[in-house]
Amino acid sequence: MKNISILGSTGSIGVSTLEIISQFPDRYRVVALSAGRCLDLLARQVRRFKPEIVSIADPQDVPALQQLLSGYDVEIVAGVEGAIGCATHPVVSMVVSAIVGAAGLVPTLAAIKSGKDIALANKETLVTAGALVMDAVKQAGVQLLPVDSEHSAIYQSLSGHRPQDVRKLILTASGGPFREHSLEQLRHVTLEQALAHPNWAMGDKITIDSATMMNKGLEVIEAYWLFQVPAKQIDVHVHPQSIVHSMVEYVDGSVVAQLGVPDMKTPIAYALAWPERIPLSLSPLDLCTAGSLTFSRPDMQKFPCLQLAYDALQAGGSAPIVLNAANEVVVDSFLKQKIQFLDIAKIIRQVLEQHVVERVESVDDVLAYDHQARIKTQEQIARNS
Ligand code: MG
Repeated sequence: MKNISILGSTGSIGVSTLEIISQFPDRYRVVALSAGRCLDLLARQVRRFKPEIVSIADPQDVPALQQLLSGYDVEIVAGVEGAIGCATHPVVSMVVSAIVGAAGLVPTLAAIKSGKDIALANKETLVTAGALVMDAVKQAGVQLLPVDSEHSAIYQSLSGHRPQDVRKLILTASGGPFREHSLEQLRHVTLEQALAHPNWAMGDKITIDSATMMNKGLEVIEAYWLFQVPAKQIDVHVHPQSIVHSMVEYVDGSVVAQLGVPDMKTPIAYALAWPERIPLSLSPLDLCTAGSLTFSRPDMQKFPCLQLAYDALQAGGSAPIVLNAANEVVVDSFLKQKIQFLDIAKIIRQVLEQHVVERVESVDDVLAYDHQARIKTQEQIARNS
């Protein structure tokens, strides 16, 4: 029996994780759930999965949650401390880290340091603090299993091979809903159009990141840390069908890929069950009816966020933290319809251009650069409007 803690249980990954767990009650037990603002859904999850501890982001929501769970024997905690409590609960052996954004960093790092294996869906953890997190993973001797579909694909494609034989990692990208748009058309896209992803059902933030291709940029940085491969050996191929989830090219010219229907339950189940596999009831991939699979290079002119991410990775130090924080702020502004679609990349670029890259030595540094960058980005948005 594996005891599981889920950080971000009411988000898209959290809900899918619980769906899988519910099918394997003999293998997995939910010990801790941590969520943001969706109190009703969290309360339903608590009643169904009976965790020992549950955490909510805002301490002010505790009384409302207590009310919803009156009569249930569960410890209710809140805030960052609450999330850490869920992440480090003594009986937990694996933490599913699925909080959206930089907020996932502190509890995930706490989980690693207390010896928990991590199923990592929060890419911002590695984008903002890759060196610190990978050091902690090494020190603690825990498993870090990627849940991001591309990184799960690469992890699977690397399995059984020597790292020194890798020539290239190839991340695939759907290209999002605006893949065929001209720059002029991109000027006029609406929030509704940006939220309509062609292949994957995901949360709002990551759906916008997919539309700008910042998601792929963050994934390049994530891959750099996870697999310790230099940035110039990480390529992106646009593959609109989202069937090849990513590939590894070896020195002898062999390319090993992982394929499947685009459903996040596959990489989640892989991380939960590793090194085993558990049977899922998804409709199988039928390549004979899938049609053609196409690949092309990304257009960095139309999707400058991808280039900004490569540049931030190259600059190193505090640059990826600033990239990520600026992105979170501008995406939030776009979701609130305060800025236009093309402003997203423009403002991130402006914030990065003003930033003097510094060394990052600690989590406090990460949080400080993150905080400063959010303020700078708000100021930049105000200046532009
Ligand atoms: Mg992905």
